[in-house]
Amino acid sequence: MIEISKVSKWYGSFQVLTNCTTSVKKGEVVVVCGPSGSGKSTLIKTVNMLEPFQEGTITVDGVSVGAKGTDLPKLRSRVGMVFQNFELFPHLTITENLTLAQIKVLGRSKEEATAKGLGLLDRVGLKAQAAKFPGQLSGGQQQRVAIARALSMDPICMLFDEPTSALDPEMVNEVLDVMVELAQEGMTMMCVTHEMGFARKVADRVIFMDKGNIVEDCTKEDFFGSPRSERAQLFLSKIL
Ligand code: ADP
Ligand code: MG
Repeated sequence: MIEISKVSKWYGSFQVLTNCTTSVKKGEVVVVCGPSGSGKSTLIKTVNMLEPFQEGTITVDGVSVGAKGTDLPKLRSRVGMVFQNFELFPHLTITENLTLAQIKVLGRSKEEATAKGLGLLDRVGLKAQAAKFPGQLSGGQQQRVAIARALSMDPICMLFDEPTSALDPEMVNEVLDVMVELAQEGMTMMCVTHEMGFARKVADRVIFMDKGNIVEDCTKEDFFGSPRSERAQLFLSKIL
């Protein structure tokens, strides 16, 4: 579903990604972890070209994201993305947040979009909040809305960038539970997260990044059992 091949990226003279190669198969859940500043966000954002890159290729469902002529808005509409900071539209109600892109980008009728949005809102346990504004919801609730909004576009895969790291601790699990359910339903997912409980539960593979390099790309059993690199060993010893 996602093929990342020899991707390098520079910010000016600073190389943020070095020759990164990995892939995510259909239905696979891949967790990306590593120290702050190692390039995790940059890597995941290259997948839908929120960050351009100078070398290498990335394809999503066979479409080369960096190629001239690629319909990026169409590609992005099929790749769900959930960020650290919810990023709901503050001036729109939850229902409007859930329906806007369905109507504008997918051309769905308001009725169809509303039915789909409310169904997903129900699924993340927030049906009663439909008429509220994002600011009236807790961080955990807002992040569940953000996931429902991404799902409303019928994505072929989902990208998560530290979706729980801005949340108060007691709200982390309500978001992880939704992600675990998605994973168990077979959604293709690439998740930057340091929630190792999540990784242990549902990850098929774990990628560990350090200084712009993918230094581990292995099964979770290998990652937690015997990471090869010293850097990953040190990282695990600090967070587990
Ligand atoms: P991570 O998500 O692993 O914490 P990032 O991908 O956000 O890492 O950042 C990787 C490195 O790139 C960091 O050193 C960061 O300071 C740098 N960086 C990120 N965005 C920019 C930018 N827009 N311009 C210059 N440097 C950046
Ligand atoms: Mg980051």
